[in-house]
Amino acid sequence: AIRIVGLNKWYGSYHALRDINLSVKQGDRIVISGPSGSGKSTMIRCINALEEHQEGSIIVDGTELSNDLKNIDKIRSEVGMVFQHFNLFPHLTILENCTLAQIWVRKTPLKEARDRAMHFLEKVKIPDQAQKYPGQLSGGQQQRVAIARSLCMMPRIMLFDEPTSALDPEMIKEVLDTMIELAEEGMTMICVTHEMGFARQVADRVIFMDRGQIVEQNEPQAFFDTPQNERTKLFLSQIL
Ligand code: ATP
Ligand code: MG
Repeated sequence: AIRIVGLNKWYGSYHALRDINLSVKQGDRIVISGPSGSGKSTMIRCINALEEHQEGSIIVDGTELSNDLKNIDKIRSEVGMVFQHFNLFPHLTILENCTLAQIWVRKTPLKEARDRAMHFLEKVKIPDQAQKYPGQLSGGQQQRVAIARSLCMMPRIMLFDEPTSALDPEMIKEVLDTMIELAEEGMTMICVTHEMGFARQVADRVIFMDRGQIVEQNEPQAFFDTPQNERTKLFLSQIL
């Protein structure tokens, strides 16, 4: 579970997040939407301590995310993150990409790490690619490797930052299908995405951000069918 209270963040003098309050229960599936520059990535990067915040508190499974490195390590090991641009290690095979952190961060024995990697590569339906390098895979396959790599760390929460927006249309579905499966298994997920079909199908709540604030949140049907805020209405009219 995640609890964010009174979160404010600045980049220098730029106020990027303004008074964010958000509670996510275990098993919740949250979709975050909003215009470019509204602070979506900044917010989820704060949850993973990839960005520092200046005010407010972020508590992940009971651990407060202070600048104490011990807490940061603990939270990073519980929170998986998948980025727009996969961020795989290009000089390592797919299997090695999936075992590296298990071995070095988790101190998992090699055999066990490999078994777990193969388990999750099977889950994302590309066990046959294990010996290849990222550059030899399609974008959709690479993104599924990135998801498998995250899952190998056995996270309790998964954060996705526009995981399909760098993909060709025909590859978007295979990545979304993987995410839908995870959601159906009960994974706690926060997904920044403009895939509104996905939001309607799996989200418990859709959050709309604009200019560093959460301006509206609701269950998907109400969010899409009867948005309340003018900025939400304008945004939805542009993307739907
Ligand atoms: P997009 O949809 O384009 O990904 P976003 O909602 O994810 O946008 P953020 O990346 O969180 O937006 O950025 C929010 C604001 O903070 C933007 O105005 C951006 O220019 C600014 N910003 C982001 N990262 C930095 C940084 N490292 N240094 C300074 N300003 C930044
Ligand atoms: Mg972003």
